[in-house]
Amino acid sequence: MADIVSVVAADEQRLLQRLQELVEVESPSEDKAAVDRAGALVSGWVAEMGGEIRRHPQEGFGNVLELRFEPAQSGSSRRGRVLLLGHLDTVWPMGTLAKMPWKEDAGKIFGPGVVDMKAGVVMALEALMAVKALGAERPVTLLLNSDEEIGSPISRAITEKIAQECSAVFVLEPAQGLAYKTARKGVGNYELKVEGVAAHSGVDFERGHSAVLEMARLVQTVAGFTDLSQGLTVNPGVITGGTRSNVIAAECTAEVDVRIAKADDAARVEKLFRGLEVTDKACRLTVTGGINRPPMERKAGTEALFHLAQKLAEEMGFVLDEASTGGGSDGNFTAALGVPTLDGMGAVGAGAHAAHEHVVKAHLAERTALLAGMIAQAE
Ligand SMILES: [Zn+2]
Repeated sequence: MADIVSVVAADEQRLLQRLQELVEVESPSEDKAAVDRAGALVSGWVAEMGGEIRRHPQEGFGNVLELRFEPAQSGSSRRGRVLLLGHLDTVWPMGTLAKMPWKEDAGKIFGPGVVDMKAGVVMALEALMAVKALGAERPVTLLLNSDEEIGSPISRAITEKIAQECSAVFVLEPAQGLAYKTARKGVGNYELKVEGVAAHSGVDFERGHSAVLEMARLVQTVAGFTDLSQGLTVNPGVITGGTRSNVIAAECTAEVDVRIAKADDAARVEKLFRGLEVTDKACRLTVTGGINRPPMERKAGTEALFHLAQKLAEEMGFVLDEASTGGGSDGNFTAALGVPTLDGMGAVGAGAHAAHEHVVKAHLAERTALLAGMIAQAE
């Protein structure tokens, strides 16, 4: 392990320089041309490494890049293929860079998308180069999509297909504090829409059927689906309805976020939402949406990967913990297929999706070396 650490550390300048270059190519999910520019930059580096580049065009989003690396000698290729899973898109609109430029300050590196997850992408390439330098290659696919920040609607199918050809999946999302992520909640979104009957509140009160009042009852009901002992939460986060206080509201909508820790709860939640009924029978309710990311449960395969990572970290001189989170990633999809998945293998930092987003510089080489060690040694 000492070898991997020194190989990675020797190239830290290249890692930092590439990270700056990639952060300075802004890549919001909704801007295909911008995300494709970031993809072109990464593809250039992959071409230099001799990797094979397959582009999957996506309608309305940047191309998904399937970057394949095959071992030079056939002897070392007996291990299964590892999938390194990442995304090129960020939540930051074009122009953010001008207000939030690349900046190093007191050991922290700031910039849009730096921790989520441009550092993870650059780390993956450095880890692959270290593995090659040490003659520990195996078949690896680095899959970078462009729609993760909006729920991976189009790339999901590609991710699932490729994951099934792999023996392990390493997700390049940021660490949770200093920990790798061994469990993630599943995520669902529902929209409730109530149509009532409008009327003048002074002149025609009895003829009205308030969509706002009906929604108020429904929101109470769905919030009651929360079951903290099972890790199931329901948050009616947005409610919109009515026009003026002297009008009995004809319409009201609510957007509800659902998180589930257990795969079985998907069906339970679905049944609860589909079974919702109005109290005022003159109102009409429409429920749309559903669970779109299954939970990543802590299964034996993930546990084994984590234990290997913990052992390698110890050999490198640091302690690695595991954590679970309520947030979803593309690792949810691969874990749900039964492919051993370990997440949070990207940079250490904080502030993803927030103005103080940053990477902690001191951990970059160490985490890259650990990723390299995992690529070399995982079953
Ligand atoms: Zn991310």
